[in-house]
Amino acid sequence: MSSQSHLPSVTTKTVPGPAPNGMGNGLFATTDIKVGEDVVHAKVPFVAVLDKPRLDDTCSACFGKRQMETGTELKACTGCRIVKYCDRTCQAKDWKFAHSLECSVFQKLKPQVLPNNARALLRMVLRTWKGKYTTQELGVFTNLETHIQDIQESQAHLDRLNLTSKAVKSYSETNMTQEAIMAYAARLDINSFNLTTAMYDRIGLYLHPYAALINHSCDYNATVGFDGEELFVKAIRPIKKDEQIFISYIDTTTPNEVRRKELSERFFFDCKCTKCTKGTDTPEDKFTTTPKDPSTLETAEKQALELLQEVTKSDLNPEEEIKKMESAMQILKQTSNWPLTRQPYPALRDQLILSLLSINNFSKAFLHTAIRYLRIDPVLFSPAHPIRQLHAWVLAKLAIYLSQEGFESNSKEASLIQQSELNFHYVLWYILADLASRQGESCTVPSFKRLVGANFAQVHNEFKANGMDPSTSKAVVSAEWKKLERLVQVALDQE
Ligand SMILES: [Zn+2]
Ligand SMILES: [Zn+2]
Ligand SMILES: [Zn+2]
Repeated sequence: MSSQSHLPSVTTKTVPGPAPNGMGNGLFATTDIKVGEDVVHAKVPFVAVLDKPRLDDTCSACFGKRQMETGTELKACTGCRIVKYCDRTCQAKDWKFAHSLECSVFQKLKPQVLPNNARALLRMVLRTWKGKYTTQELGVFTNLETHIQDIQESQAHLDRLNLTSKAVKSYSETNMTQEAIMAYAARLDINSFNLTTAMYDRIGLYLHPYAALINHSCDYNATVGFDGEELFVKAIRPIKKDEQIFISYIDTTTPNEVRRKELSERFFFDCKCTKCTKGTDTPEDKFTTTPKDPSTLETAEKQALELLQEVTKSDLNPEEEIKKMESAMQILKQTSNWPLTRQPYPALRDQLILSLLSINNFSKAFLHTAIRYLRIDPVLFSPAHPIRQLHAWVLAKLAIYLSQEGFESNSKEASLIQQSELNFHYVLWYILADLASRQGESCTVPSFKRLVGANFAQVHNEFKANGMDPSTSKAVVSAEWKKLERLVQVALDQE
């Protein structure tokens, strides 16, 4: 039942229409949509650019999709030496799409490299000027709101947009007015998505005017993912014909006040979604018991958030990051009122896992990833959610690593895992089997699904080569799973 929208590169089961609650336009389902199905699939971006640090290690044409499959070494454009590509195929594709228009500008500005938003704006302006967009594409884009009125209330925001558009006007040497360029910049600011890899790592900025029509809800029914330059919006819940499609613009696991502040400051609206109308009467705001003295909880939250900010905003070494995250988690735990699933507790653990992985502390990372998989994600995310699948994948990778490489000799965590007598092969088989069996109803993108499928097949075949089939020995697998659950409890008690 999917159909082409009036944009040739977009396949969708939606149609635009006026949305209630002053939300302007939105997208509405033209048919019933099942969990995991594509709601919108855009093959070609309106604009997509890499973040500055990614220009060096990610292909500017396929955005890492082919690297994931083949691991080729990238070659720089011989003109500007700023953007890099897998090979001539990727290079030729991007040259034709836009790089032929911008390469000389990049050369002139060297050694300066423009930030992501200026490179995106330059691309859009040059492609518009050279007639590379279709009339329909430009039509949908110019109909997007600019929120210039709201932006004018913040001088800093206005100055920033002014500066970027002035610069892009002069670099591009176009005859477009600066006002028109500024309107482009404002639309980019408010409508762009985080471009991510198939493994959900952020790598850049992405804009598609049709996908930009999707409104926000903290109680969303669809999620966004990328596979190379292709965008996928998939249903995370069953969606009925005529229902409005919603995605989340922000992290919706945070408490009511945090969500509403972020939405109003960054996107200029007052959220009236079904979750926000419940006020603080949702799991995001709940504590394990009603606190006797709420001010101790506020103080703990403030201290924990400050520590998290210190780690995400500054350049500390991983050991310092780990120390800060662990002390922030202690502060929350000592309130004896803070659920593991209430923010910022999960965010602290996520950051801790990243820091542990960066120094190859795999035993400790395994314990925290197992806690996240068993105790946190089932509360925060529905089974089809890509974040949940991604976290399961990280746990599987750690199980593979520990089963092959063994443990570091003298850590507390390594001995804890060894005492549990966990058989990593069975645990690994179970996680991958579970992931593989959910593929059809999952919101992950095709490259991610292929990777999971290939790994599961490999692990399963290894068992078979040894004359075993875990799918027929359920008792053995479930005994191993109980060991994992016990291990998680012991690890939590010792935190
Ligand atoms: Zn490539
Ligand atoms: Zn170039
Ligand atoms: Zn909301």
